[in-house]
Amino acid sequence: MVRPLSQLQVDLSAFAEDYGRKSMDECARGTLRSSESEGGCFGGLRRRNEGYHGRKPVEASLWANPTRVLLASSLFLLLLFASSSLFTAPGQMSDDTFAQARRSMVEKDLRGQGIKDPRVLEAMATVPRHLFVPESQRFQAYRDRALPIGEGQTISQPYVVALMTELLEIKVTERVLEVGTGSGYQAAVLSHLAREVYTIEIIPSLAERARKTLARLSYNNVLVKTGDGFFGWEEKGPFDAILVTASAKKVPEPLWNQLREGGRLVMPLGDINKAQRLIRIRNIEGKRRVEDITGVIFVPMTGTTQERFP
Ligand code: SAM
Repeated sequence: MVRPLSQLQVDLSAFAEDYGRKSMDECARGTLRSSESEGGCFGGLRRRNEGYHGRKPVEASLWANPTRVLLASSLFLLLLFASSSLFTAPGQMSDDTFAQARRSMVEKDLRGQGIKDPRVLEAMATVPRHLFVPESQRFQAYRDRALPIGEGQTISQPYVVALMTELLEIKVTERVLEVGTGSGYQAAVLSHLAREVYTIEIIPSLAERARKTLARLSYNNVLVKTGDGFFGWEEKGPFDAILVTASAKKVPEPLWNQLREGGRLVMPLGDINKAQRLIRIRNIEGKRRVEDITGVIFVPMTGTTQERFP
C-alpha cells in the first residue's frame, strides 16, 4: 500500500518513541500486560531511542563527504519504505496488513493443522478477528492463541474455533445455538455457514459488547441473548447444531432436549481447572452417539451448571 510521506513520518516517530521500551520476546510470548502492550509490539527490532528520525544533531563532516551523503540518503529512504510494513504501530496497522495476517493464519494454523472444510476456511479467512478483541490485543489477533476479552474471559484460539465449527457440519439452511458468546467472534464465523445463529452469554457487559460489534459488522442473522445458557433458548429451538464454548462436567439436559434429530452438539466436557475433552454428540433417533475428539482447555461454564454438577 502506498502511504503519504507525512503518514510514514508519523509512523517512524511513533516507532522511535517506543524503541527499546519493550522486548520483542515479551511481545511474542504475549507476556506484556495490556497496558504495556498497547503501542509496543512491532514484530521487528529493538533499539534505543535515538537515530534516524532527526532528533540527534548530524555531524557537519557527514555532509562534506558525498559518498556518506549518498549512503545516508539511501539508508534513510530504505528505512522510510520499510517502515510502512515493518515498523507500523499496532494502532496504525492497516486493513491490508490484517487481511494478510488472516490469510497466513488460515494457511499455516488451520489448513496446515488439518482443517479441511472449504466453507469453514473461507469463513475464517473473512471474519475480522482483530475487531472482536480489545485494541491492546489487535497486534496479535491472528496468532493462533486465545486472547483476553475482559471479565476474566477469553476469545478462543483460531484453530479451536475452526475445529469446533468443522465438527458441527453446518448446512446453509440450518439454525445453530451457541452457548458462550464472549466476544461474538465464533458467532460471526457460524453466521457465514448457517441460516440463523442464536448465541447466549451469561455476563451482561460481554453480551452487550458482542451485540454491538456484530451489529456494526452487519452480522444480521445473529441474535444475542443475555442469560444462563444452561437452559438453552427454548422458544427458538430445536436446533440443528449446538456449540458450547465453556466447559462443564455434563451436557446440560435442556441443551440435549433442544437438539433436533440428526443434530450435532459440540462441547468441552470435564473437570473445571483440568484438561477437558472436546466431544461431539449426534442425536440419532433420540439416542446419543458420542465421539471423543481431542484434549482442550476452556474456561468453565458458570451459573446453574455449577450448582447442578458441582
Ligand atoms: N465463543 C467466544 C468468542 O468467540 O469470543 C469465546 C467464549 S469464552 C471461551 C466462554 C464464554 O462462555 C465466556 O464469555 C463466559 O462468560 C461464557 N459462559 C460461561 N458460562 C456460561 C453460561 N452458563 N451461559 C452462557 N455463557 C456462559
